[in-house]
Amino acid sequence: MTSDKGLLIVLSGPSGVGKGTVRKAIFEHPETDFKYSISMTTRKKREGEVDGVDYFFKTKEEFEALIEQDKFIEYAQYVGNYYGTPVDYVEQTMADGHDVFLEIEVEGAKQVREKFPEALFIFLAPPDLTQLEERLVNRGTDSPEIIRHRIDEAKRELKLMNLYDYVVINDDVDLARGRVQCIVEASHMRRARVESKLRKMLLEVNQ
Ligand code: 5GP
Repeated sequence: MTSDKGLLIVLSGPSGVGKGTVRKAIFEHPETDFKYSISMTTRKKREGEVDGVDYFFKTKEEFEALIEQDKFIEYAQYVGNYYGTPVDYVEQTMADGHDVFLEIEVEGAKQVREKFPEALFIFLAPPDLTQLEERLVNRGTDSPEIIRHRIDEAKRELKLMNLYDYVVINDDVDLARGRVQCIVEASHMRRARVESKLRKMLLEVNQ
């Protein structure tokens, strides 16, 4: 009855909201003890990114072969590229009792919801839309066409925030980091409480 399995934590939200920055702040924090699942992508490596650290960079052919072999918990096409979460790492790490943290876009999060309804879904939202657009423009990593595409995508993604268990506003990275950590902590406590209740109930019916 007790679940020694780790919790699956999904952080999602529109492109440009600062998911990557909040995720880095979470993993740099000494109290964080969950594991980050490194995604696979066919997108080109940006300056400063490292294969196997930021992503596992794959060709389209390699990625499609992995889809055929059922190697993803979820995958999605985002602005012309594939992104996916490797199944082996996530399942093994959770089975070892560690919490696993995914930072993914909303289509992927929907697929995870179907396979892992007990996972924790957190939506990172911008304080307002103007800030989100400014961030996408000022990031300087994408062409104007890609930026426009990402803004459209972000607006579509924002409409889906009510499908999540929690919404965290990213008005300040450190505050957002703390909010996510509190939500994870509270979810563990709630899970422990539910399990203890169920154990008691089982004892009663077995008497
Ligand atoms: P970027 O190209 O800016 O690194 O990521 C683009 C979008 O893809 C972001 O919203 C990011 O969270 C999302 N993403 C990263 N990894 C995955 C993944 O494994 N699956 C899905 N569905 N989305 C991902």
